[in-house]
Amino acid sequence: MEKVLNYVNGEWIISRAEEFTDVINPATSEMMARTPLGGAEEVDRAIICAAQAFNDWRRVPVLERVKPLFKLRELLIDNFDDLAQTITMECGKTFEEARGEMLRAVENVAMATAMPMMMQGYNNEDIAPGIDEMMIRQPLGVGTTIAPFNFPAMITFWFIPYALAAGNTYLVKPSERVSLTMQKIFRLIDQSGFPKGVVNMVNGAKPAVDAILNHPDIKAVTFVGSTPVAKYIYSQGSANGKRVQAQGGAKNPSVIMADADMESSVKIIADSAFGSAGQRCLATSVVITVGEAQESFTKMICDVAANRVVGYGLDQSVEMGPVISQQSKNRIENLIDRSTSEHANILVDGRHAIIAGYEKGFFVRPTVIKNVSHKSELALTEVFGPVLSLMHVETLDQAIKLVNDRNYGNMANIFTRDGGSARKFRYEVEAGNVGVNIGVAAPMAFFPFSGWKDSFFGDMHGQGMDAVEFFTQKKVVIERWPKEWSRKF
Ligand code: NAD
Repeated sequence: MEKVLNYVNGEWIISRAEEFTDVINPATSEMMARTPLGGAEEVDRAIICAAQAFNDWRRVPVLERVKPLFKLRELLIDNFDDLAQTITMECGKTFEEARGEMLRAVENVAMATAMPMMMQGYNNEDIAPGIDEMMIRQPLGVGTTIAPFNFPAMITFWFIPYALAAGNTYLVKPSERVSLTMQKIFRLIDQSGFPKGVVNMVNGAKPAVDAILNHPDIKAVTFVGSTPVAKYIYSQGSANGKRVQAQGGAKNPSVIMADADMESSVKIIADSAFGSAGQRCLATSVVITVGEAQESFTKMICDVAANRVVGYGLDQSVEMGPVISQQSKNRIENLIDRSTSEHANILVDGRHAIIAGYEKGFFVRPTVIKNVSHKSELALTEVFGPVLSLMHVETLDQAIKLVNDRNYGNMANIFTRDGGSARKFRYEVEAGNVGVNIGVAAPMAFFPFSGWKDSFFGDMHGQGMDAVEFFTQKKVVIERWPKEWSRKF
């Protein structure tokens, strides 16, 4: 069984932790490794090393700072399928989904190599005679990412390439449930040419996170995970004077207008709702049909859901893998159980799934539930499983009202051929990511990964220029150079 190590000051370190979380392949229920749950002592040491490394790293010219990123990009591409396979094995998504995750990670590394331009400031000469004013950006210090289980590789890359290229040093705290992908990525980071102490990793859970939030040398905290923890991280981190962005959970609605291209919409929605077994913060969880869309959409989505091929993500024919744990499977099935007491009808029932050859896996098959009341538990709770709730209204205005009548605001989609409906929808909905005839409105690396309401706490987001803003602080300089001081040669 692989040993999960920490990586501090350029060295692989065996944790002294006495508690562990098992890393379990959710398709087979086999234990792959045990993640040590390090505490304050291990975290503090890593932060001290990162803080010391910052003194030199911030002075390395930006053109030099991006060189290890070019190397890292090459290494990630060379090891692309191996990393994707590890993602599938520890997290459950299909191999193709894992490859998609890796692709976005690599794109963010490529994007951050443009840091020599991205962190440029601006200046005005002669704001008064002989006086110039300029804005320059400087790094903050030690940054960190506290990551969730559902993207063991990608999410750290929304932040880390930008932070490093901008001159910060870094500490990564992977999800303790899926620590193996980051072990492999750090082997590549180790070969990329970053000086010792610039990039570090400590494994752990809440005590490690608390140590991060309390350490004075941590200047920037990025978190992605569930909303209650996001709120906690944001309030604790901010109270301790850190710059914080915390992405939370989601409950994403897609609206189907009667004029939508039904065949393609159903396919796209099925991929959104059941892809990664519904364990994506951009999964469609609720469909609101408008007017005549209801009948055909309902029939077609049930057909697709019932026929989805479920199994081990490394089998090529498989379209959907397991959920992350037995506990998660139980939680999802209990939510489905309780929905019927609120007068919902289960049209396709994914409970108690047994997959031949993987009888011990944590599988929930695609589930479609009709007549879900918009104030019910199922309508308001993040399921994080392959469960699609159906609601119905007669007008677009009613649909928009339903979309906005929820605490989350990660994503909202509309399926229509009508430009007027699409424009009204994108203008009115309270969501940070909007899709028009798109099922997973995931921003490319050069757009911010947005999120509103209880799906995001903070100001600047991950990826692209937002990440540059987040990991730099502005310094405004005014200089006076009187003409008479100029030497005459
Ligand atoms: P989680 O909140 O349980 O864990 C996330 C991280 O927080 C882990 O590293 C964990 O060790 C740490 N943590 C857990 N409990 C903690 C506590 N009490 N105090 C301090 N730290 C704690 O989330 P998860 O189950 O790993 O991930 C799934 C969640 O992440 C879903 O809610 C999903 O919507 C969300 N998510 C959001 C986005 C987004 O962009 N908004 C992206 C991916 C996932």
